[in-house]
Amino acid sequence: MPRTEELAEASRLMTVCNSCRYCEGLCAVFPAMEMRRVFTDGDLNYLANLCHGCGACYDDCQFAPPHEFRVNVPLALAKLRARSYAAYAWPPALRGLFARNGLAVSLIAAACVALFVLGLVAWNGRAALVGAHAETGSFYALMPHGAMALLFGAAFLYALAAMAMGARAFWHDATEPARTLAAPRPLWQAVKDAGRLRYLEGGGEGCAGEEERSPDRRRLWHHLTFYGFLACFASTCVATLYHYLLGREAPYAWYDLPVILGTIGGIGLLAGPAGLLAAKWRRDPALEDGERFGMELAFIAMLFLTGLTGLALLALRDTPAMGLLLALHLGIVFALFLTMPYGKFVHGLYRFLALVKYAGERQAVPVAGEKR
Ligand code: SF4
Ligand code: SF4
Repeated sequence: MPRTEELAEASRLMTVCNSCRYCEGLCAVFPAMEMRRVFTDGDLNYLANLCHGCGACYDDCQFAPPHEFRVNVPLALAKLRARSYAAYAWPPALRGLFARNGLAVSLIAAACVALFVLGLVAWNGRAALVGAHAETGSFYALMPHGAMALLFGAAFLYALAAMAMGARAFWHDATEPARTLAAPRPLWQAVKDAGRLRYLEGGGEGCAGEEERSPDRRRLWHHLTFYGFLACFASTCVATLYHYLLGREAPYAWYDLPVILGTIGGIGLLAGPAGLLAAKWRRDPALEDGERFGMELAFIAMLFLTGLTGLALLALRDTPAMGLLLALHLGIVFALFLTMPYGKFVHGLYRFLALVKYAGERQAVPVAGEKR
């Protein structure tokens, strides 16, 4: 089968870079590339997902446009990466959601919010949205806890199953044995590298110093987004334990763990995505894959809205606005769960798997002087 345009361009550039090797100290992509002489489709998808798009190799490249070699590794790998998300999506019938991802995610989010608004009104009457709640601050007075747990549990399990199938396809394409995923050292190395976003700034030995390129705070914004999301998830898990193990029902006081975690997470989900959007605006257009702008924007907007509606619900839960805010927050979070396997969210999953594979390869062929 002929290669796609994205695969052919990535293969051409990796062949050029493999002869040049000037950037070998910048990140994980170049050492992984140097372990290969020919690049299968699986190799290229693996390298594309190993790349953090920091742009360092473009800044440093003597063959970048207008040179006739037209070497732009970050852009070529970004295009291939986005293509790989669709190629690995499960079920295959839903791969089309990646084609106009911004529109698809917006429509799904709008439909989910509308469904929750209509659902709350159908269950409780119009008073649900205008504040005549018998128990102020009690979400479960408007939507029973069991119904909420069932609906969101099912959506989350579906997202996990779809992403597990995508991960399986990625791993198979990379021709990596399943046992690598069970090996403690590569796994732990990948957890450390992903946890501190080690390669986001082209931070290996030999890269250009901070003073040589404009400041890029994407690492900070990524950290705020990632750990903000984790804090929100932890808040939900703790609240579930409170409910089922301790018999303590929401609403919780501001000093209770679910509220503290939710507040920290919500702030992270406001600051992180806002920073990512601002950084995207300032980024060199030569590094941007314009076709995927909608997907990136949808991902940022969904996380931002999750944080915004969650904090607003917390702040105004004892006011007449609670019903409407609850419907908005639940609709956004439900849409976030449903669209997780069909948007930019999967980049974290494939990047982590690529880091595990890379750590396994490094273990077999260590690089002299590399800090782990
Ligand atoms: S990006 Fe440019 S400078 Fe860096 S290895 Fe490739 S060809 Fe060489
Ligand atoms: S991580 Fe940065 S330096 Fe490495 S290939 Fe990607 S853009 Fe280039």
